[in-house]
Amino acid sequence: MSPNRSFVAAGTARLLMSRLRELMASEAEQQERLERVVQLIATTMVADVCSIYVRSGDNSLVLMATEGLRPEAVGRTRLAENEGLVGLIASSARAKRLRNAPSHPRFSYRPETGEDPYHGFLGVPILRGGRVLGVLVVQNKTERNYDDEEMESLQTIAMVLAEIVTSALNESNDLDLRVQPPAEMSGRTLNEGLGVGPVHLHDPVVSATRFFSQDPEAEGERLDTALADLRQSIDTMLNRATPVLFGESRDVLETYRLFAHDPSWETRLHDAIQSGLSAEAAVDRTRREHRVRLENARDAYLRERLHDFEDLENRLLRHLSGEGATDHKPEPGSILVASRLGPAELLEYRDCKLAGVILEEGGAGSHAAIVARAIGVPAVGDAEGVVSRVEAGDDIIIDGERGLVLLRPTNDVIENYRQRISVSDEERAKYAELVDLPATTKDGVEFDLFLNAGLSFDLDHLEETGAKGVGLFRTEFQFLTSETVPTLDEQAAFYEDAISRVGGKSMIFRTLDLGGDKVAPFMGGDREENPALGWRALRLALDRPYFFRRQIRALIRATGKRPLRLMFPMVCSVDEYVQARELVDAEMAWAKKFGRETPDELQVGAMVETPSFALSIEALKGKVDFLSVGTNDLMQFFFAADRENKLVSERYDLLSPPAIDLMRHIVESANRAEIPITICGEAAGRPIEALVMACLGYRRFSMQGARIGPMKRLVRGTNFAEIKQQVDLLIESRSFDLRKDLLKIIQQSNLQV
Ligand code: PEP
Ligand code: MG
Repeated sequence: MSPNRSFVAAGTARLLMSRLRELMASEAEQQERLERVVQLIATTMVADVCSIYVRSGDNSLVLMATEGLRPEAVGRTRLAENEGLVGLIASSARAKRLRNAPSHPRFSYRPETGEDPYHGFLGVPILRGGRVLGVLVVQNKTERNYDDEEMESLQTIAMVLAEIVTSALNESNDLDLRVQPPAEMSGRTLNEGLGVGPVHLHDPVVSATRFFSQDPEAEGERLDTALADLRQSIDTMLNRATPVLFGESRDVLETYRLFAHDPSWETRLHDAIQSGLSAEAAVDRTRREHRVRLENARDAYLRERLHDFEDLENRLLRHLSGEGATDHKPEPGSILVASRLGPAELLEYRDCKLAGVILEEGGAGSHAAIVARAIGVPAVGDAEGVVSRVEAGDDIIIDGERGLVLLRPTNDVIENYRQRISVSDEERAKYAELVDLPATTKDGVEFDLFLNAGLSFDLDHLEETGAKGVGLFRTEFQFLTSETVPTLDEQAAFYEDAISRVGGKSMIFRTLDLGGDKVAPFMGGDREENPALGWRALRLALDRPYFFRRQIRALIRATGKRPLRLMFPMVCSVDEYVQARELVDAEMAWAKKFGRETPDELQVGAMVETPSFALSIEALKGKVDFLSVGTNDLMQFFFAADRENKLVSERYDLLSPPAIDLMRHIVESANRAEIPITICGEAAGRPIEALVMACLGYRRFSMQGARIGPMKRLVRGTNFAEIKQQVDLLIESRSFDLRKDLLKIIQQSNLQV
């Protein structure tokens, strides 16, 4: 292509942009605007036809405005989801150009449009928020090839058009087009609770007022500055993160850096600016394209890469706006909708008083789920395609009890949910009455209920929950939410803050449980075939004692003279426990040698999360101060079923005979070895599971804050001896389906769960 031609193309695009800008600023009705847009495009691009097709509620494509086709066809011509070239563009979300359209096998002839004499064809998708809103088409009578610049220009125009089309749809009298119908989607509960509110889309949206620029040169400079800042920040991140901890492999971040320096990306951004877009709009344009490709990509590796690009584009937009990550804040009471969220991203919303979080990805064990629980927001994951089915501001209901999402519900459904929400508020008030009462059954059996936490603000509600203390503090959260490895000082400050928040109550710090599914942003590292079975948690600590000892040093420093309780995750053998314990002792000796304060009392425990360790408990007598059963991992390894994979994780039951046998073996061997034992997996907070575990002999349970009130109420309402008699009989039956019968026992005993 000659530079002259490029100049001409950019000139055409700019001219179009400046006219579109005038049009967007005009008072015209939306439909009239659309008509003027098609006229404008047809004239400027010297096309015989320009048409806009819009996707309606049933996914068919309706001709909404045209210059060149018969006006009577507007609103009448409707192509099925995959019909014709327009359907092909919409379903593939890709542009298409043809020298002779009627000869294409997908060409679909509609007599009412009178389009048969047209040959040259160029169509581009109209994209918004990761979905295809419609298709913009230009056609010429003659056979002709549209060149790259024409396609570029039309894609840029389609982006501006997305905003006009959205407003036009909202104003349209055609209900089918205007209102996306109510819909129900099923997902998976990440955190229980109900919420009603307007949708807030996670991605920052470029406001339409910033679409255009009159000074491409100045915009180009803004882009260059922002790109330089972005690259610099990534370099700094990479350099600071030099993770001795995780070896030299920094593939992930390196690839990320390569993307940030990708010349073709930069060229595309500059081209878009040359055509009259602002720098923000140029970035937004490439982001939309990546987004749609991401929606369609099946390959996990490609999805990751496209997600990296999207992440870069979001960062670049923030650099351009000169504002922080949370400049695009939701109204209080909104429901956050995102394709996926990292723990840090969700944390950024913690002061926004969200009514719920809905994710397309994210299993119950995902970090976003754990953060949602920590900030006490109802959350549903696995809501496939939700981002593309809602608009910002749509009403939405999140039903974290049934794992449902209700899009654009009718008013009576909203009312119904609001009532249910106020009932659950009343319930919560009832739990508040139990805060200072012990978890003792009617016949005097005492239980201890503890809190699981991972973020310091989880601890702010410790008093309100009525928990006896913190049974599991997941220290890896500080790492998972940080872009670089937290330093010794940072770790110590974090622990000190956590300790000060629990007042005098007891607190068990679990040492780092990184690796496996818990990959911190700075870790990079080689992909493992079976990460859950790989180099993780204590294995990593024993192989990298320097990092492990640094954590212990931070814990000792933060504790001062108070008691320190810590435990190790994923222990597989007595020997591993002993080795880790020796490292702790070495750190204590170091602190004493250098005159540092050391804890008055040190208790060291281990998590029972692997079958091999579950069968080693009696050999721990006298060596370990306490044990805590992590049923999430223990069941994953016992049944060989990935806890993150819903296809397999829900097939196996903690209440099936083999798992009950294992859990019984654990508690009985701990009792014989006189080692106090707790359950701290999710099962601890589930009434039916906890009831069976109590009958096996467990007396200490550690769970998320929201479960403590209900569990205390259950305990206090129970006549344990009576219930145990019935439950024991059921267990003896060795049935694989205990749940129904257990529920019956609970109901007959009038227990509230
Ligand atoms: C468990 O595995 O049950 C547990 C409590 O640890 P985590 O969920 O953090 O792996
Ligand atoms: Mg675990």
